[in-house]
Amino acid sequence: MTLTNKTILITAAGQGMGAASARACAAAGASVIATDVNGDLLDNLAGVAGIETRVLDVTKADQIAALAADLPDLDGMFNCAGVVHHGTVLDLTDDDWDFAVNLNVTSMVRMCRAFVPGLLRRADSQGSAAILNMASMASSEKGFVNRTAYGATKAAVIGLTKAIAADFVAQNLRCNALCPGTVDTPSLQGRIASAPDPVQAEKDFIARQPMGRLATVDDMTPTIVHLLSDGSRFVTGQTVLVDGGVTI
Ligand code: NAD
Repeated sequence: MTLTNKTILITAAGQGMGAASARACAAAGASVIATDVNGDLLDNLAGVAGIETRVLDVTKADQIAALAADLPDLDGMFNCAGVVHHGTVLDLTDDDWDFAVNLNVTSMVRMCRAFVPGLLRRADSQGSAAILNMASMASSEKGFVNRTAYGATKAAVIGLTKAIAADFVAQNLRCNALCPGTVDTPSLQGRIASAPDPVQAEKDFIARQPMGRLATVDDMTPTIVHLLSDGSRFVTGQTVLVDGGVTI
C-alpha cells in the first residue's frame, strides 16, 4: 500500500487517530499536511519526515478558506476532527447540540467545499483522489447510551459521505466514512477520567468490545491508509466499520 506522490491533509492531527494517521500516511510515502487547532500538540510531529504542520480550527470558515488558497491541490483529505457529547437528549442543551453539529458535520461540509475543487483536478490528472470522513460505530450503525448528539452527528457524516461519493463518482473522486469501535486515545482517557467511577468506566468501555480490549490507534491506521490509497480505488460511498466486532 503506497501513498507515494500523494499530498494528504489531515484534520485533528495533534493527537489520537489523527496524529497516528499522519505518521502512517507519511511512512507510506505521502506528503502530509497535519492540521490541528492546537499548535502545541502539532509540535509532537515536528521533524517527522514527510509531515508539515499547520494550525487549523475546522470550525472557522475563514481559516479553512485561507488554508485552501495557500496549499497545492490535494490527493487525499482525512476529515478526522470531532467531539463526543456525553448525555441523553434530556441533557442536551441547544448550545451543546449546535457545537456538536458544527464540529462534527458542518466543518466537514466546509472542508469539502474548500478542497473538493483541487481534489477533482488531481482526480482528473492522476486518475484518483479520496476523501475519508471520520464517523463512528455510534451513528446510524448502532445506538449507544449517552450518545444522542454524537450518534446523530456521526450518522449525518455517513449521509454526507454517501452524497459526496454519489456526486463525484464519475470523476474518480471517492469518499468513504470510517466507523471505529472504542479506541484508546487521549480523549477517551479524558472521558474515563471524568466519569464518576473511572475504574468502572474503563471496564464498561472494554465490556462493549467483544474482543475484550480497546482498539489502539494502530488498529485503525492500516485501514485509513488503505482508504486514502489507490488500493481502494473501487471503494466509494462506504461506511467501513473497524469496530472489533461490535456490530456483527
Ligand atoms: P482525540 O479526541 O483524542 O483528539 C482530538 C484532536 O482534535 C485534538 O488534537 C484536538 O486538538 C483536535 N481538535 C479539537 N477541536 C478542533 C477543531 N475545532 N479544529 C481542529 N482540531 C480540533 O482524538 P480521537 O479520539 O482519535 O478522535 C478523533 C476522531 O475520531 C473524532 O472525530 C472522534 O469522534 C472519532 N472517534 C473516536 C473514537 C474513540 O473511541 N476514540 C471512536 C470513534 C470515532
